[in-house]
Amino acid sequence: MTMNRRKRFVLPLAMAGLVAASTLGLGQDHARPKVGYKDTPMLPGGRWHVHDSDRPFPTVVTPGTCSTQEEPGKAPSDAVVLFDGKDLSHWQSGRGGPARWTVQDGAMVARPGAGEIKSRDEFGDCQIHLEFASPNPPRGRDQDRGNSGVIIFGLYEIQVLDSYENVTYADGQAAAIYGQYPPLVNASRPPGQWQTYDIMFTTPRFKPDNSLESPAYSTVLHNGVLVHNHTAHVGPMAYRASPPYRHHGPKGPIVLQDHGHPVRFRNIWVREIKDYDQP
Ligand code: MG
Repeated sequence: MTMNRRKRFVLPLAMAGLVAASTLGLGQDHARPKVGYKDTPMLPGGRWHVHDSDRPFPTVVTPGTCSTQEEPGKAPSDAVVLFDGKDLSHWQSGRGGPARWTVQDGAMVARPGAGEIKSRDEFGDCQIHLEFASPNPPRGRDQDRGNSGVIIFGLYEIQVLDSYENVTYADGQAAAIYGQYPPLVNASRPPGQWQTYDIMFTTPRFKPDNSLESPAYSTVLHNGVLVHNHTAHVGPMAYRASPPYRHHGPKGPIVLQDHGHPVRFRNIWVREIKDYDQP
């Protein structure tokens, strides 16, 4: 083959290859389409320009579906599903060993005296979705009515209680950061109806000497209604006390409290919260 003939074969082949690589998104220069600018002002932090053409695209997530009273919704595609109505395989007893709550009609039910249960997975900053239904007909009053709790790290409690026409101390009612902040409003549904919590939790940070650098924060929606807006926990949950933070690791389990009432739970999932520009 003469040089000229080779060129005639190789060049079109190479160009076809480049076009294919570009179409398939292969190669460093072709990994992402160039969309954006570099001649725009630098944003605070000195990392990205406004509309930066090199800024990573967010991960694509397939959203879940909303629950109805009859049917639990689906979790988003990147969630860790802790309970989908079938079994307690993602849970263990707070004291160790198998979780001793019951599964009934697609719900897991707190079994009075069985003790708290905790997730086998551990989480740091995270978005938690769960649904609960207070016992119906209601029994008891004040704190003795549909009491449970979502205790993140086993330390930071968002209270679960039947607070529909049931008076208790404000910082102990449903959706309270227990013992610290009442919910901004009482968005409770009647006992027996499914209710949702969506909790955005930021873990506390500790300095190398184990002292507190920044507190835990919770943003909470109760039945879709905002009840805490990036509220700083003053420390771990306690009854009639206000203990200080104590150093712990960056991840911990989610604990569901047994307070002696057969509260039902369903559709529990967790998403890790990542920082911007992370894959
Ligand atoms: Mg409780």
